[in-house]
Amino acid sequence: MNRVYNFSAGPAVLPEEVLQEAASEMMDYQGSGMSVMEMSHRSKVYDKIIKEAEADLRELMQIPDNYRVLFLQGGASLQFAMIPMNLMKNRVADYIVTGQWAKKAAQEAAMYGKVNVVASSADKTFSYIPDCSDLPISEDADYVYICENNTIYGTKFKTLPNTKGKTLVADVSSCFLSEPVDVSKYGVIYGGVQKNIGPAGMVIVIIREDLITEDVLPGTPTMMRYKIHDDAASLYNTPPCYNIYICGKVFKWLKKQGGLEAMKKINEKKAAILYDYLDSSKLFRGTVEPASRSLMNVPFVTGNEELDAKFVKEAAAAGFVNLKGHRTVGGMRASIYNAMPIEGVSALVEFMKAFEKENL
Ligand SMILES: *Cc1c(COP(=O)(O)O)cnc(C)c1O
Repeated sequence: MNRVYNFSAGPAVLPEEVLQEAASEMMDYQGSGMSVMEMSHRSKVYDKIIKEAEADLRELMQIPDNYRVLFLQGGASLQFAMIPMNLMKNRVADYIVTGQWAKKAAQEAAMYGKVNVVASSADKTFSYIPDCSDLPISEDADYVYICENNTIYGTKFKTLPNTKGKTLVADVSSCFLSEPVDVSKYGVIYGGVQKNIGPAGMVIVIIREDLITEDVLPGTPTMMRYKIHDDAASLYNTPPCYNIYICGKVFKWLKKQGGLEAMKKINEKKAAILYDYLDSSKLFRGTVEPASRSLMNVPFVTGNEELDAKFVKEAAAAGFVNLKGHRTVGGMRASIYNAMPIEGVSALVEFMKAFEKENL
């Protein structure tokens, strides 16, 4: 077996312990005589898996009792439509556009109502988070929307926007469970799990219970109503069973690491190793304003496209894979999610130093 250091933005690295455990349970899950992939989602065995996953997530994030946890399909992108369909009672929402994912969400919402872009960082290729302390929040806005960590551009909100009392909705796909959050500040927190938690195709939605109503936009499909999924405890139809099982294992792994406070410390340490080097390097530089830097996604460039390509190629040959930047921005990006060990980041920096010496 030859595992690489995988810096993919998503689907992304998972904890080796989790993969090994899943492998050992593949043919016979805990004496059931079958794989989790083969069992009924209504069976007793599976009921324990999904209930434990929710309980562990609640414990990790200290989710208050008046919030529901939904395990749904369609990835993060389906939420771009589900959110307006379920929450746009006045057909007005305010969006803060700090990158491509927020932009896509705003475009989707505009199919259902009036979308006001109340702040944006498009003027500087999304390399910073705008000041959101006093925005022109719309009087009749149903919610204010952010993408909390911008996977492509490598920025993160360090303080949440002042929504002036409006419901905050946040896409946390690429910072999910990377540090503690105060769930009570949000109306909806959601994220596709393939960045920091599990296999692609699933989204976790944490939603305050008063936002779950039957009053949705006309024509909202049954499968896109939060109420349907909440009433059925995420078992309205067959859920993404195996994904939920893997996510549950990752929750247990996170608890074993010491929970989200501990993860935050580790993630800060890992990110500092890379950013400190980028700040001192004469060849590489980070592309994000320091105050807005993400702990999870670190974009960087040499300033020379040919050299960037050479770096990506030589890094891959040395076992550091998926370092090519997003196709829309170029350069490099190292995604250093929870499951990336600190040794992986240190080894990458050593490799970058050697590359700098040879190519400067
Ligand atoms: C990857 C990503 C998405 C899209 O996720 P899908 O599961 O592919 O729909 C949305 N938002 C953010 C912040 C992402 O990083």
